[in-house]
Amino acid sequence: MAYRQRRRQIMLVYEMKLQGTESQYRSLDEAIRTGLFVRNSVIRAWLDGQVKSRNDAYKHCKLLSDNPEFPWASRLNSMARQAHAERAWASIERFYRNCKQKTPGKKRCDLAALQAARGSAPRKGFPKFKKYQVRASVEYKTSGWKLSGDRRYLTFTDKFQAGTFKLWGSRNLHFHQLEQIKRVRVIRRHDGYYAQFLIDHEREEKKELTGKQTGLDVGLNYFYTDCSGNQIDNPRFLRKDERKLKKLQRRLSRTQKGSQNRKKARNKLGRAHLKVSRRRNDWVCKQAQHVIGSNDLVAVENLRIRNMVKNHHLAKSISDAAWYRFREWLEYMARVYGVPVIAVEPAYTSQNCSNCGEKVVKTLSTRTHECPHCGYIADRDENAARNILKSALKQLSNKETDKKSINGLI
Ligand SMILES: [Zn+2]
Repeated sequence: MAYRQRRRQIMLVYEMKLQGTESQYRSLDEAIRTGLFVRNSVIRAWLDGQVKSRNDAYKHCKLLSDNPEFPWASRLNSMARQAHAERAWASIERFYRNCKQKTPGKKRCDLAALQAARGSAPRKGFPKFKKYQVRASVEYKTSGWKLSGDRRYLTFTDKFQAGTFKLWGSRNLHFHQLEQIKRVRVIRRHDGYYAQFLIDHEREEKKELTGKQTGLDVGLNYFYTDCSGNQIDNPRFLRKDERKLKKLQRRLSRTQKGSQNRKKARNKLGRAHLKVSRRRNDWVCKQAQHVIGSNDLVAVENLRIRNMVKNHHLAKSISDAAWYRFREWLEYMARVYGVPVIAVEPAYTSQNCSNCGEKVVKTLSTRTHECPHCGYIADRDENAARNILKSALKQLSNKETDKKSINGLI
C-alpha cells in the first residue's frame, strides 16, 4: 500500500468562549475599540501622506501611544498596537496590489487617482475606515496575555485590565507548546466574547493513495457533482434556516429605531445568523474532508464570487450552497493532506463535450448532455465535472513542461 506523507506548516485556529463579568467584557470592548482606533489612524495618516511604508505604520503606532490626546492608545499592549497597524497596512497593500493588477472594478492607481480618491468618496477597494460593529476583534501577538498552568484560564495583562477569563470549548490547548501560540484574537459576537488561538502547527497527516482524481461542478440543483456522476444534495437545513432568518429580519424591520425592542430583535437576528453559519460551516467542512480523503487530485472551477453577485438570484443560491466556505476548507485540507486542488477557468465547462471536445450548446434547463458528434450521453453536471478535471490536468501538464512556478496550484 502506498502512502503519501507530508510535513507542512499550518496555522491552526482554536476558538473558545470567554467567561467573565460584565465589567471585564467592557474592558474587552475598550481594547477592541482601541485596536480599531489604531487601524483607522494609520489609514488616516496614509491618506495624509505621513505613512508610506509598513515601517512608517509602526512608527505611527508609537506616535499614537506617546500622544497624551489619546490616553487609551498606550493602554493597549504594544505588540497588539503593531498587529492593528499591520492590519491597516495589509489593506493598503491590497489596494496597491489590486491597482497594479488592474483588477476589474478597481481604478488605476496613479498619483492623480489617489489624490482624487483622497478628496472624494472612497472608491471600491479603497481602504476604508471601519465603523463600530458588534462583530469586531482585537489581536494580541505573543504578549499582553497569559494562559494559566492548566490552560483553562486566560488573563489579559495589558493596561485595560480585563483580568482573567475562564475558557469554554472543546479544544484542548495541552497538545501545543506555548511558543506555538503566535496570536490571540479576541472576537466580539452577538452571543458573547471569544478567544481565538492561532497555533503554528506542523501538521503531518498520512493519506493512502486512492488512485482517483476528480473534478467538481457546483450547481443550484446539487451542492456538487463529481466526475463519476456522484451528486451531493444541498442540505435541507439551508432552506429552513433561510426562512427563519427572513422571519427575524421582518420582525426587526417592524420595530422602531432606537427602541429597546429593536435592540432585542437585532440581537436575535445576529444570534440566528451565527447559528446558521456554524451549522453550514460544519457541514461543508465534512464534505471537503470527504473529497480530499477519497482523491489524490481535485479540480474545481475558479468561480469569481464578485462576478456572480451581479446575478441576484444566483448569488443567493451560491451563498446558500456555502460553496465559498467549501472552497476554503478544500484549500486548507489540501495543504494538510498534500492533495493538489487545482482551480480552472470556468469557460465552456458545461457546453463542451467532455468526450470529444465539440461544443454542444444547451440552455440552463437542459439537464442531460447528449453529444450529436460522438454520441456521448451524461448528466449535464457530470459532463461539466469531467471538463473541469480535464482542463486542470492540461493546466498541470503545461506548467510541468514550462518548468514554471506552480502558481495555478492552490
Ligand atoms: Zn462528443
